[in-house]
Amino acid sequence: MEVVHVASESLPLVKTGGLADVVFGLARSQQKNNKVKIILPLYKKIKDKYYDKLEELGYFYTSEKYVGLYELKVDGLNFILIDNEEMFGSDEIYSYGNDTDRYAFYNWAVLDTLGYLELIPDVIHLHDWHTGLLPLLLKQYHMRDERYQSIKTIFTIHNFAFQGIASLDKRFEYRLEESGYYELDGNINFLKTAIACSDKITTVSPSYRDELLVDNTYPSLRTVLESRSEDFVGILNGIDYDYFDPKHDPLIKCNYNGRNYKKSKRLNKQALYEQFGIDCDLDKPLFCLISRLTEQKGLNMLLEKLDDLAGLDISIFILGSGDKHFESQFESRFEWRNNCNIYIGYNEELAHQLYAASDFLIMPSLFEPCGLSQMIAMRYMTLPIVREVGGLKDSVYPYNKYTLEGNGFSFYNPYAGELYDTINLALELYNDKKAMSQIIKNAYKSDYSFNLPCSQYLELYESAQFRAIW
Ligand code: ADP
Repeated sequence: MEVVHVASESLPLVKTGGLADVVFGLARSQQKNNKVKIILPLYKKIKDKYYDKLEELGYFYTSEKYVGLYELKVDGLNFILIDNEEMFGSDEIYSYGNDTDRYAFYNWAVLDTLGYLELIPDVIHLHDWHTGLLPLLLKQYHMRDERYQSIKTIFTIHNFAFQGIASLDKRFEYRLEESGYYELDGNINFLKTAIACSDKITTVSPSYRDELLVDNTYPSLRTVLESRSEDFVGILNGIDYDYFDPKHDPLIKCNYNGRNYKKSKRLNKQALYEQFGIDCDLDKPLFCLISRLTEQKGLNMLLEKLDDLAGLDISIFILGSGDKHFESQFESRFEWRNNCNIYIGYNEELAHQLYAASDFLIMPSLFEPCGLSQMIAMRYMTLPIVREVGGLKDSVYPYNKYTLEGNGFSFYNPYAGELYDTINLALELYNDKKAMSQIIKNAYKSDYSFNLPCSQYLELYESAQFRAIW
């Protein structure tokens, strides 16, 4: 099959969260048996870093706006990059106040690019709201051109909370023909458009799919989703097992495998402590949190119990960035504690080092479409402590002290007390070396590679039927 992924971010070029991991990992895995390309905006960050590797493919104008096209081959993947200084020339990727304008332009540019390059895939796989107008534009405009008529559209919801909402007045600028497909609660809603118009809709775990169909946080959007429930499936994400591989990861100090992990993880812990001047006993367990610092991630539970946690015989390391109030609260409360460390910022290298050095990863999310950090943690033989929600529930099976089953720890209610008790249970396991080894083995053996999701997506692509929207 010929598959084109369209997204707003992908490793190794740009990443702000799990979306970038998934686009990259899925494309790499599909590429073994299919022709795959990824289309991304040519952000300034990419231009600066890969300037001498970009190959020009040409340019055209869409609605009088310049669209430059470049190809970039990296890590065995083929990227097509869409250039427009005004839209993508700033330092950051998101949050310019006009993101919906930037991505509406992007959706038009992507579709026109396919025709310009004579690149007509069997499937366009779209990711998140940034690509939400595309199925509508394809069916309203581009399918008038015969070449586009065989293309199927698959849309993946990575996070239902991000919807791409613009004022209805923008419909002229975005060139949306009058229809009921893009409007929701008096606004243009990119996510609604995608849900209404794509041939198939997926989300990133079976449990999140079920939660979305009953959750009433966004009632009108839920109703739209419900109307498409037969075409809506949950496919659990995977992670790229070559990229996240403690045996060969070039970003960690000491590589390891299922046999020599104890000694090596300790050396990684030592290197981490030396790098940050942490004066902590290496025998004490290290709990990490690697996350965007936002409400979604359940951080208030952690803050509520921070004093109690800091009093335990453990050390804690937080790597994250996001909402300023979380950043400053953690920073100020960690400042004077020896066993609590924090690094504010986005740092891929440090993330890998932390996965490799830690004993446990804390992830108490309020909601979690899939979550990748828990999967990465298990790959690095670090046990996840999670809330039983969304993809966390589908990937972390709680430790059972009688049968020694399970690959991590979980709790149900979003209460700080439950998180605290679960951390204490983890501490208990840590002190039982034999049982701890067994649970680590279970975690390491859990297969969260892209093998299964890759075949599930291909099956879905094959079964997708064109959905008429007029
Ligand atoms: P989300 O997509 O909601 O941010 P996921 O768990 O799906 O959460 O994916 C998060 C990804 O981003 C993981 O690969 C994690 O290691 C990485 N990550 C999160 N915060 C940071 C950070 N501050 N520095 C480096 N990597 C981070």
